[in-house]
Amino acid sequence: MTKEIAEIRTGSCLCGAVAFEVRGAMRPVIACHCRQCQKTSGHFVAATACLADQLTLTNETGLRWFQSSPEAQRGFCGECGGNLFYRRLDRDQVSIMTGMLDHPTGLDLAEHIFVADKSDYYEIGDGRLQYASDTPDRSARRKA
Ligand SMILES: [Zn+2]
Ligand SMILES: [Zn+2]
Repeated sequence: MTKEIAEIRTGSCLCGAVAFEVRGAMRPVIACHCRQCQKTSGHFVAATACLADQLTLTNETGLRWFQSSPEAQRGFCGECGGNLFYRRLDRDQVSIMTGMLDHPTGLDLAEHIFVADKSDYYEIGDGRLQYASDTPDRSARRKA
């Protein structure tokens, strides 16, 4: 079976006050179990990503940005509370919470990061790669 996914994806929050379109390839999904992602989502997040200029907001009336650390912001819907975006101010990339995308996404979950911070009420048993903190290549890039 081949997945024929047009490389245009759409998505929105629960109420629709934030809606978007992404053109072109998106990064494989990364599940992040860090404390911040727990606190913004109620569980852990699974995010894909694209370059900032691939993303078009088709409705941003509800969009609010929260400065979650000195170098990053989290985008959410001020109407329904949906957790949509994560962006580092030093990168031209936007992470998008994968559950916001319309189906089918054509994406696959590749790895789990910050598993050292995960809570004790669930286990990760899907066989994907797991990293105690960030992925090694991205940690290296961050130091550069
Ligand atoms: Zn909303
Ligand atoms: Zn996280």
